[in-house]
This record gives sequence, structure tokens and C-alpha cells, in this order.
Amino acid sequence: MKIQNAPPPIPSLPQQSPIAIQDPIYADFGDRKLDIDWSSSLEGHAHKDSHGLGIDVVEQAADHQIQLDRKNFQLQSFHFHSPGEHWVHGKQHDMELHLVHKNPENGQLAVVGVLIDGDAPREQQPDPLCKFLKDVDLASESGQPIQFDPKMFLPDDPEQYYRYEGSLTTAPYDSNVSWVIMNKPLSVSQEELAELTHLFEKPAREPQQLNRRYVLSSFKDEGNLAP
Ligand SMILES: [Zn+2]
Repeated sequence: MKIQNAPPPIPSLPQQSPIAIQDPIYADFGDRKLDIDWSSSLEGHAHKDSHGLGIDVVEQAADHQIQLDRKNFQLQSFHFHSPGEHWVHGKQHDMELHLVHKNPENGQLAVVGVLIDGDAPREQQPDPLCKFLKDVDLASESGQPIQFDPKMFLPDDPEQYYRYEGSLTTAPYDSNVSWVIMNKPLSVSQEELAELTHLFEKPAREPQQLNRRYVLSSFKDEGNLAP
């Protein structure tokens, strides 16, 4: 019998983020699904740096965490990108919020991404998200801690999301980041958004190659049916 040589190892391909989401595969995640368990009131420290405006959560406690793939990740920080980084069915959104969670045991990251569009009519009352961002901007200058309810960042229907494995979208671009991108964007008015974009002067990273990865969706994505 002729013993064959082992096949050459498959070169490891970069698994970077963001990506352009197209043709996701519908998956019933069962008990691996995303469960958001954020407490209604958190305290954070606002900061402005090369990432633009962001907030570090003061305590990473078990009462503001998510479960994903049967693992726990605790909310650590969040920040915004303008324009959005993940493209969905060929569309780039006006902004994108990244809620960064960390598994306390192995340091693995899970980021929940929420897309934001300036397509709502301006209301009499300021939009709660835009008002919050102005408060964050002031807090970053005063150094005062800021209280907030992270549930305000959840779009309608947070059970609808995309999932894939990727990386940080800023240096050092570490891999081993589990991504959840919410399907429904948040809507704010164009006028209010225009007043805020100077706070997020960070260019979006270009969508990266998928390289044998799959994108899964928790819902039957109508975008698949579009011609
Ligand atoms: Zn980000």
C-alpha cells in the first residue's frame, strides 16, 4: 500500500471585520442564541480619543451581560462610527454603535453592532439617543460619570440579527471577536444626526474579505429575495 503524503496545511486566512453582509444563512440558534441581560441603569465614564466619543462602563458586573453560544460576556464599553462599518445588502448606514462585551474567563470579545440612520422626521422633543450623545460629549469634558440605560440602544425586534466571527475594526485588529449585527437600524432625524457627526470623526474601515466564513441570520432575511 502506498502511503500518501499528508496534504499541505490549509493556509489560515485572515478573518477580519467589518464585512459586507449578503446572502446570510438562516439558522435556528436554539440555546446558542443571543440573550441580552443588561441592567436598566449603568454608570460610565465618557471619553474622546482616536475612536471618537465612547463610554467605559465603570463596573463590569454580572448584571449587564449577554449570553451568546452559551457563554457569558460582560458589557465593557461602547463607541460609535460614522459612517457605519458593516454594509447590509449593499447599503452603508449613517452610523454604527459598537457595544463591546468581554468573556471574563478567556478574554474573548463579543460586539453587538447597531446600525443608525438619519431618516426619521424631526420631532418636537429631542431624540433620546441624540440627547444622550450630547450629554456624553459634555461629560467627556467635565469628567463627570454618566448614568444611562443601555436598552435605549436596542432597535425594534432585537431578536433579528446577523452573526459571524471576525475581528476588531481598529488597530490592533485582533481576531477572535464574535459579531452580532442587529437587523433593524435605529432611526434619528437627519438634522439631529448632522449636529453630532463631528463627534465621530473616525473613518469607517472598508468591508473585508469573507475568506470562507459564513454569515448566519436569526431570521428569514427578506434581503435574500430581492432581485
Ligand atoms: Zn467599533
